[in-house]
Amino acid sequence: MEKMKVSKTEDVIENMMENVKEDRRPLGLYIHIPFCVKKCDYCDFLSAPATETMKKRYVDALITEIKGSGSFYSTYEVQTIFFGGGTPSCLEASEIERIMKAIGETIRLSRASMEVSIEVNPGTLTEEKLRVYKRAGINRLSFGLQSANDKELKNLGRIHTYQQFKENFLLARTLGFQNINVDLMSALPEQTVESWENTLRTIIALAPEHISAYSLIVEEGTGFYERYREGSAGYRLLPDEDTDRSIYHLTKEILKDNGYDRYEISNYAKQGFECRHNSSYWIGIDYLGLGLGASSLIQGVRFSKEEDLQKYILLCEQGAVTLERDKPDQLVDSLGLVRDRDQLTLVQRMEEFMFLGLRMCKGISKREFNHRFQKSIKETYPEIIDELVEKALLIEDGDLIRLTDLGIDVSNQVLAEFLLE
Ligand code: SF4
Repeated sequence: MEKMKVSKTEDVIENMMENVKEDRRPLGLYIHIPFCVKKCDYCDFLSAPATETMKKRYVDALITEIKGSGSFYSTYEVQTIFFGGGTPSCLEASEIERIMKAIGETIRLSRASMEVSIEVNPGTLTEEKLRVYKRAGINRLSFGLQSANDKELKNLGRIHTYQQFKENFLLARTLGFQNINVDLMSALPEQTVESWENTLRTIIALAPEHISAYSLIVEEGTGFYERYREGSAGYRLLPDEDTDRSIYHLTKEILKDNGYDRYEISNYAKQGFECRHNSSYWIGIDYLGLGLGASSLIQGVRFSKEEDLQKYILLCEQGAVTLERDKPDQLVDSLGLVRDRDQLTLVQRMEEFMFLGLRMCKGISKREFNHRFQKSIKETYPEIIDELVEKALLIEDGDLIRLTDLGIDVSNQVLAEFLLE
C-alpha cells in the first residue's frame, strides 16, 4: 500500500503559518456531532443518545448553519476539517456525505493538501460507512478505543470490545485509510502498569500512524464522579501516584522505541503524521466550530454556539445564520446562535500563546511572539524564562523556547508561571 507523502512537524506547521501572511488566512473547521449510542460513565462531553429522526433534523440544521456562514469563509483557506463528538460514526453514512457535500458547495477547498478527520467508535462503524467516508474526502480516522483490556472497557461503560476495534481497524486499512489515530486512556480504576503496557504494545503492533495517550480525569457530573471522586469508596481503586508516574514514563519510552515522536504533551506520531487540525489550535490558527455547543476562535474573538439541542435545531430551522466576513465583533447571527462571545485582551492572547505553544514539544518562537504582539517575550516575562531555564524546566534554543522532559513532567506548574494577571 502506498503511503501518503510525509513531512516533518516543523514543515507542516511552517506551511500553515506561511498562509497567515498571504491574503487568505488559514482556518480549521470543527464539526460537532453530539450523538452517542450510550453515554460512557466517565464522559462529560456534549453528547447523548438520540433517535434517527432527531439525528436527521440535526444534520439538516447543521447544513443550514454551514451554508448560512457562506460569506464568512471567503477570506479564509480551510486547511483542516475535524468531525468530533460525540460519536460522528453513529450517524448514517449518507448523513456524513450530505455534510461534506454542503461544505464542498459552500467553501472553496484545496482538497489535495487538506486533512479531513473523523472520530469513529468501534461498535458503530461499518464497511459501508468507511467506503462513504473515503469517497467524501475523509482521509484520517481517529478511533476512540481507550484500552485493549475488555474489563477496563466495560468499566468505562464503552459499548465495544477490543476485538471489535481490531476488526474495524483492519478493515479501514484494507479499504486504504493510511492515516489512523488511536485514543488511549491511562489512570483507569484498577489499571496496573502491566495492563497499560499490554494495551500500548497491542496497539503498537497494529502500527497506527498516531497515538493519543491521555489520563483519566474524574469529572463532576459523571457516573465516575459518584464512584471514584476523592473521599468515595472507589477512590482507592484509582492508580496511586507512583503507578501513575510509572505509566507516564513507560508510555514515553515505549512509544519512542517504536518510532512515535512525542510532538505534544499527550500526542505521539510517526514522522509526518502529526494531527494538523489539533496542531493548529496549539499554534493559534483561527478555527470555526459548527454545530451544537461548538467553540470558535476568530481573530482574537472566542465564542461558542447554542448548547441546547432543541433550541439549536429550532434556531437553524427558522432560517439563515449569517457570519459576516472580517467582522469578528459582529460575527453573527441574526438568529442568536452564538453564545459567550469574548474579545480576548492582548494579555489573554499572550498567555494563550505561551500555554498552548509550550504544549508542543517543538516549543514557541520568540520571533513569532514579537511579530504577533509587537513586544519581545523577554520584556513580557522578565526573569521568569531565565529562572525556568536555570531550574532545567525550559530550554532556550536559538529562536525557540520549549519545555524540557522535566518541565513536561510538571507542565501545569510551569505553564502557570506565564499567567500575567
Ligand atoms: S463515546 Fe466518547 S463522546 Fe460518546 S459518551 Fe463515550 S466518551 Fe463521551
